[in-house]
Amino acid sequence: MTDTPMTDTRPTDDWGRLDGRAVAWLDRLLSRDTTSRLSNLPVAELIAEECRTLGIAVHLCPDATGRKANLVATLPAADGTTSGGIALSGHMDTVPVDGQDWSSDPFRPEVRDGRLHARGAADMKGFLALVTAALPRFAAARLAEPVHLVFTFDEELAGRGGRQMVDDLAALEVRPRACIVGEPTSMRVITGHKSVTIARVDVRGRHAHSSLPAAGCNAVEYAARICTAFRAITDGWRDEGPYDEDYAVPWSTGGVMTIEGGTARNIVPERCTVVLEFRTVPAVDPGDVIALLREQAAELTRQMQAEQPGTGIEVVVEDLVPTLATAQDSPATRAAIAYGGIPSDEHVTYGTDGGAFHAAGIETVICGPGDIAQAHGVDEYVEISQLEACQDFLATMLDRLSVPD
Ligand SMILES: [Zn+2]
Repeated sequence: MTDTPMTDTRPTDDWGRLDGRAVAWLDRLLSRDTTSRLSNLPVAELIAEECRTLGIAVHLCPDATGRKANLVATLPAADGTTSGGIALSGHMDTVPVDGQDWSSDPFRPEVRDGRLHARGAADMKGFLALVTAALPRFAAARLAEPVHLVFTFDEELAGRGGRQMVDDLAALEVRPRACIVGEPTSMRVITGHKSVTIARVDVRGRHAHSSLPAAGCNAVEYAARICTAFRAITDGWRDEGPYDEDYAVPWSTGGVMTIEGGTARNIVPERCTVVLEFRTVPAVDPGDVIALLREQAAELTRQMQAEQPGTGIEVVVEDLVPTLATAQDSPATRAAIAYGGIPSDEHVTYGTDGGAFHAAGIETVICGPGDIAQAHGVDEYVEISQLEACQDFLATMLDRLSVPD
């Protein structure tokens, strides 16, 4: 793979201290549309090809459809060791631009006023591009310990790729001692985020003519009772905790996000589906919340079946991003700070692949360029100064990991 010709960049562009390879990789990755509903392979294959060119062992681990894949690459230590080491992780998908009125083409990266605008600039192809741009230097160095690339698909779909990645890493016997996820934190080293759970509640009643309600079982009414019960749970979190003051909202939160049910004004509804979302602080196990919801569903099912047999409520976990709760003195925290990440005891409100890695026993922190506030919106951007800071971070990391000949 040769660099994109520099004529590709607009003459008015100001890329600051970013080196030519960084600019070329930013342009390459950001000009490919890997919205989560599409394949991430255009980006994964580009990076894999660069690894192969540099003689770095790389694996693309496909999902069940074969349309998407995780990427795992390992640069061994100078003595050939591939176990342990530091993982750099990021996701290759982005959120959509549907319905957003951008000032410039979201897939044609453009620098204006010291900011690089493109879909994924902050979240998080900026980080992936800088890591990929640094690969030749990492490949040429004598490393004290291995460095792994752990790049995922479908992070924006409740972390599906990250959950598969845990299995992919186990299958490849890649066990980093520390992992740095480059989600936008303005280069602060973040050790915690809440868990995120999406649960679907399927209510199956019995239809009947609305003039004969006793012949049916009203699914919408029972769904409403589940909604009310869930509201009582979330009110309890707000009023009674447990609290974790490291979060901007220091308690667990949740709510009913969508509800669909009923077919006509004169038919007792047979079906209703409710989608709940909740985010818990580390002291609340999302599994316990699901167990409580299922208990309530079982109680309501008994009442429904007293009305009509064959009715009931099922609670299905659609997605679960586990909590991230890494110690301030963990190897990952210490490594990220040693490389120039800014120490921080603040926790963040968004989920990341770090939750799945943490649950699998991999020490993980989040530290990357840009601000999450700019991540999913119109005219997404990352400050060039943030990309420079990330470039410096990677240079310091390489310096710290290099051993003399
Ligand atoms: Zn992200």
